[in-house]
Amino acid sequence: MKFDYAVIGAGASGMSTAVILAKHGYSVALIEAAHTVGPLLRGFERKGIYYDTGFHYTGGLKKGGVLDIFFRYLGIMEHIEPIPFDPEGFDLIRFFAPDGDFLFPYGYGRIRDRLLKAFPKERAAVDAYLGAVKESFQSRPYLNLEKEFSPLQELRSVHGPSLKDVLDRLSPDAALKRILSAHCYLHGAAPGDVTFTQHAVVVGSYYESVHGLRGGGARLVHAFEKTLFDHGVTVFCGRRVSGIDLSFQGKPESVRLADGEHISCRACIVSLHPRQMLELLPSKRFRPSYVRRLEGLDETFSAFILYGKSRSLNQRLNGKNIFSFFSPAENGFLEKGPLHRRPLFISSAVPKKGASTEPGFIAICPATLGQVGAWLHSRPGRRPEGYRAFKARVMEMLKDRVRESCPEISGDIEIVEGATPLTLRDFSRSPAGSLYGVKHRVGQYNPVSLTRIDGLYLAGQAVVAPGVLGAVISAFLACGSILGHDRLRKELNACL
Ligand SMILES: Cc1cc2nc3c(=O)[nH]c(=O)nc-3n(C[C@H](O)[C@H](O)[C@H](O)COP(=O)(O)OP(=O)(O)OC[C@H]3O[C@@H](n4cnc5c(N)ncnc54)[C@H](O)[C@@H]3O)c2cc1C
Repeated sequence: MKFDYAVIGAGASGMSTAVILAKHGYSVALIEAAHTVGPLLRGFERKGIYYDTGFHYTGGLKKGGVLDIFFRYLGIMEHIEPIPFDPEGFDLIRFFAPDGDFLFPYGYGRIRDRLLKAFPKERAAVDAYLGAVKESFQSRPYLNLEKEFSPLQELRSVHGPSLKDVLDRLSPDAALKRILSAHCYLHGAAPGDVTFTQHAVVVGSYYESVHGLRGGGARLVHAFEKTLFDHGVTVFCGRRVSGIDLSFQGKPESVRLADGEHISCRACIVSLHPRQMLELLPSKRFRPSYVRRLEGLDETFSAFILYGKSRSLNQRLNGKNIFSFFSPAENGFLEKGPLHRRPLFISSAVPKKGASTEPGFIAICPATLGQVGAWLHSRPGRRPEGYRAFKARVMEMLKDRVRESCPEISGDIEIVEGATPLTLRDFSRSPAGSLYGVKHRVGQYNPVSLTRIDGLYLAGQAVVAPGVLGAVISAFLACGSILGHDRLRKELNACL
């Protein structure tokens, strides 16, 4: 069978791309290497608890919010149930040395009031910062559906100023700047690395509203499965793509699978890490400068992750996460150095319905692939003893860190499961095990949807921003290049 479009990779971006194209009457093949679609978002169950993996919470899901509109357009909204986080404080930002908690609310008015209460002398800085986030967020196509698409707009997230530049210009207050930089965790680039505009694109949706989903990321994947089926997308799972064949005219004509099969197509959308896209095509098909650029893209950090449970995990974690910072350096944003100096992100995990077990939690600590460099050649299920002993030690250290930094989870903590940068590399198929793929940082030219090859497009978190929202927008950008941005914008506006 010949398909109009082959979409490679069934993460949030690939699944969204497939649905958009199928909605317009095209035949679409969606090809995923893992055994199911949405492997990063699906989460897992252990000891009666459901643990989220690549999705904990998101902005933009309030009624009429940008993700709500995208999900309604994609036919997802009717299959999910968003659960609002606590508007008075969705993230508890905790610092040690100097100590202090700041409960970050959502809603611009609430954020302003809370910041002014803590920093009464910084009114001008707070107003200027919040105004600039709002303005930057609204200036982006697809985040603001009234705005026409302009390719030049994309450049604004490449050139500075950085978040740090802006904060330093606005205020001398180190504590205020640390609080406003804490959400760099959501995109994985430090305040001095990330452009202010890019930071605003990510945090702007969370400043408006914050939701989780009943049933977590697994429910989102089920919703995608339903809409893929409803729209007639043909899904190939457990089929790794090993190459893209080009016709004499240089256009994609089929996708080659590792098992030797070919799937014929007229055009192709690749939603993988940009370096994995390069591996699918002969390098001479691209300019050497483009290849060098993609090969040199900086990665976001990786992580050690502890999946735990604790009888004494009290209700205070419900409706909020905790960001715990131990070092004042670089606003506490560290993936190297001693483990006890690095930040921790902690969120709760929900017992399965009917399971009589204590509540769970997930603790994420930044790390690099190099920190498990001795075992780079090992594969899941066949890791050597040395690695397993190392991982057990790291999980014990994280357990101590959680106990020390989080009285909300005091007492007995059981380690249920653990992940390292190798886990992220192998299960998420992220080549460097990075949490969010490549960085979006000052001066780094990430790829855009269009490529030099006629009929080859890119989607995925590398194009716009990490997060489910960024991935979904990348799908609209890729499909807009095919179907017309104005046409998509009108269709999306009809969902308002
Ligand atoms: C620990 C963690 C926590 C996170 N928390 C949140 C959160 O709370 N909120 C939020 O919004 N975002 C969160 N994110 C980020 C979010 O999950 C991602 O930004 C988003 O899911 C990326 O989607 P994507 O489609 O770009 O990439 P992916 O989901 O990585 O999709 C790419 C797909 O391609 C497949 N693939 C790779 N190679 C091949 C091949 N050769 N052939 C076929 N298929 C292939 C992969 O298996 C994968 O399924 C988190 C991420 C992590 C790792």
